Amino acid sequence: MGSRGAGTGMPNRRVVLKMSGEALASEASDETIDARVVERLAREISSACEELPIELAIMVGGGNIWRGTTGEGQGIDRATSDTMGMLATVINALALQDAIERNGRPTRVLSALHMAEVAEPYIRRRAIRHLEKGRVVIFATGMGNPYFTTDTAAALRAAEIEAGMLLKGTHSGIDGVYSADPKVDPAADRFERLGYMEVVQRDLRVMDLTAITFCRDNALAVLVFDVMTEGNLHRALAGDEIGTLIS
Ligand code: UDP
Repeated sequence: MGSRGAGTGMPNRRVVLKMSGEALASEASDETIDARVVERLAREISSACEELPIELAIMVGGGNIWRGTTGEGQGIDRATSDTMGMLATVINALALQDAIERNGRPTRVLSALHMAEVAEPYIRRRAIRHLEKGRVVIFATGMGNPYFTTDTAAALRAAEIEAGMLLKGTHSGIDGVYSADPKVDPAADRFERLGYMEVVQRDLRVMDLTAITFCRDNALAVLVFDVMTEGNLHRALAGDEIGTLIS
């Protein structure tokens, strides 16, 4: 397998991994959080941090538990519903923290919303210090504001901590960005590389528009890859040519 190498794929060794809440759920059963799935991901995260010269921060979503738009559809005030979604990310963050630490890697959960008893507050310089000390930083509650997603929050934090890349792990079994839904159209092609504006113009829905335009404005490269295939997380962190690189 080829490597995108320095200057193309991995401009520096600090990365932000966006992990959807649904990546922690179970497809087989109805579990909101499947301990076996979390354990597998945590094992890969810990070993990648051990073996590769990287600093890793994870932005975890909450979609397996609650999304702002779910509640809005039920008549719940949007800002309240989004706050519920942000709180959902804390549950996922604690599950990930527990599993990663059981696999031998120190972590810190940093929350944008204050919750002093369970997480440190997000302070940019503190996040960077944790990374420099080899701790996996787990960002909870997105950016702390309603009307946003954890995709946009991941892009924002990546820019703030000067990460070289945003890794967007998908959980639907699709290994990158395709010209059409490969589950519907078998002739669909996977893009190896894409420009930010192509994503927007072709309406490829990799991330929400706010997130992708933020990445474009800040020249933040995004690697979209299938995080559910064993070994892929390690490959993505190593800079191997998998998935689709948006730059
Ligand atoms: N959310 C928010 N502000 C943020 C991040 C998240 O209001 O900065 C809310 C929003 O309602 C979102 C929910 O938290 O639907 C869960 O996050 P997201 O949908 O991004 O999770 P994912 O789909 O990645 O699991």
